[in-house]
Amino acid sequence: MTELSALILDRIRDVPDYPKPGVMFKDITPLLADPVAMAAVVDELAGLQQVDKIVGIEARGFILAAPVAYRAAAGFVPVRKKGKLPAATLEESYDLEYGSATIEVHRDAFAPGDRVLVVDDVLATGGTAKAAVELVQRAGAEVVGIAVLMELAFLKGRERLTGVDVHSLVIV
Ligand code: AMP
Repeated sequence: MTELSALILDRIRDVPDYPKPGVMFKDITPLLADPVAMAAVVDELAGLQQVDKIVGIEARGFILAAPVAYRAAAGFVPVRKKGKLPAATLEESYDLEYGSATIEVHRDAFAPGDRVLVVDDVLATGGTAKAAVELVQRAGAEVVGIAVLMELAFLKGRERLTGVDVHSLVIV
């Protein structure tokens, strides 16, 4: 394990049974509160791939993606839950354990062929990341990678994300 992986692991708190029994929630707020750890994470994510835009997935993805975009001199694009973006959007629905969710992006968020890195805090089943990839592709851009702080390997999210580089700073 790298020094950065160990630092991230130390700053992500396990909260059992949140938001419901049986789920081990990975709470990144201790990491966000540590400026040294955050700077290391942002520098690492900003150096992964040469891109034009960084996509952040609502809500914790925003917190990471915005400083990464600044550091990488790339644009920031929000992927939001349905009904939050004001202008014309594209939407993508995906299945959750119970029910489904819909995310959106502005139709004009990308220039044709923009290279894009999608950023979120945790990769679990991969449903959210896969929907975000499809949304960005439909909006005319190229997703070159997905970057997360933590990947929950037992949920096999990576297997759903073929054709895209998956960068996980910590795999548990
Ligand atoms: P999934 O679509 O199953 O890969 O879930 C990923 C999304 O749900 C990400 O936006 C995460 O923020 C959130 N998420 C899923 N499982 C967890 C977890 N155990 N702890 C924290 N966030 C999670």
